[in-house]
Amino acid sequence: MEFSNFILRPGQEEVLSNLRGGKSVFACLPTGYGKSLCYEIPAHLWKWKTIVIAPLKALLDSQYQLMVERGVMAVIIHSGLSANERKKSMQTLESGEWEILSISPELLEHWWKNKILEHLLRKHKVGLFVLDEVHCAVEWKKFRSSYLLIDGIIKEIIAQKIPVLGLSATLEAAAIMELKERWPINFSLVQIPLGRSNLYLHVKACENRNHKLLILLFLLKNIQSPKAAIIYCASREETELLASFLTSCGLPACVFHAGLPEIRKMERVQQFLNGYLPILCATTAFGMGVHYPFVEKVIHWGLPSGLTEYWQQAGRAGRSGDAAESILLWSRSDILSLRALKVEEQGKIRAILRYLLAKKCRKSLLTEYFCIQDEQENCGNCDVCLKRELLPGKLFSEPVWWEGGAQYAEKNFLNLLGFGDGSA
Ligand SMILES: [Zn+2]
Repeated sequence: MEFSNFILRPGQEEVLSNLRGGKSVFACLPTGYGKSLCYEIPAHLWKWKTIVIAPLKALLDSQYQLMVERGVMAVIIHSGLSANERKKSMQTLESGEWEILSISPELLEHWWKNKILEHLLRKHKVGLFVLDEVHCAVEWKKFRSSYLLIDGIIKEIIAQKIPVLGLSATLEAAAIMELKERWPINFSLVQIPLGRSNLYLHVKACENRNHKLLILLFLLKNIQSPKAAIIYCASREETELLASFLTSCGLPACVFHAGLPEIRKMERVQQFLNGYLPILCATTAFGMGVHYPFVEKVIHWGLPSGLTEYWQQAGRAGRSGDAAESILLWSRSDILSLRALKVEEQGKIRAILRYLLAKKCRKSLLTEYFCIQDEQENCGNCDVCLKRELLPGKLFSEPVWWEGGAQYAEKNFLNLLGFGDGSA
């Protein structure tokens, strides 16, 4: 691929001009917008040796594959490589014949502790340090300690005047604030409107589990390979239960979660990418780094852990540009399950509840949540904008607790969850 023939989009241009001036940038660009060009151009055209940290092996692998296809001299290091592959990567690094090094946070931490990183920075004059999916440094720090320890590495990078580029499709205001406190970076913030005008958003309050199952069957009845639907569930057990229910109804459903053996997970990802898995019941473990353009529906079976996770997952539908749908199904029991969350998660819960009970355009709510400037007030492609019901005809009456309006409901839910009087 000839990078010089590329017409840059507005966000990409802004990122590159900041980097060119030696300034760090955090960029929030929609999925499919071309985030990787923001570091491939400095690495490949400007010859800035670049280190890219990405959270998952699957993501590192798929990015590496794309870079090699584009003619970028890429090196990859993560724990999933064989001893031989790792040795080869290390030899390439030592030779200096590389442009981009992609690495997991855990290995980078190991390198930092063992002074390998210091050696690399000194010997090869690294010109750019990239954190792909930078929101993970906030969201995943509790169970991936390397995302906390990365703070020390960033300080080192900044001390050496190497610009830092943070990339994400979902960077909420609280996350930006936290990273500003943790990292001494004076960065420019580049944000592009959420876009994805082909993606229809719908939230459906269901009376109970049976109501949800009925709607799910209605939504999946026409899904056939190569089209696909992903159903995101909160637990492994739920993915298994749903898949066996759907299979018993004659639908081609499969399961993906972190508890599967590694070989089975790889098999499932490959089958999905080849278009052989029309319906996948998955936990949040599935999706990052898996780019299948023909996902027609992303269905949330219950509540995601926050709007960041929700938008990351919803954005996996419709990457081909064809019409696609994101549908969130919820019922009272899903709200009660939020009781397990800690008090510090309250802000996230409130945001989800506002989204569920929205009386205004859903995309505009997301835009507000991610603090993105967008002149368009209504997306014209969500259930609120279009005043659309999900099922033809009304099979169930709206639940009784729904009466009294959104505000009452939100307050009531917060009380149920034990958050005092729920006043905002
Ligand atoms: Zn709308």
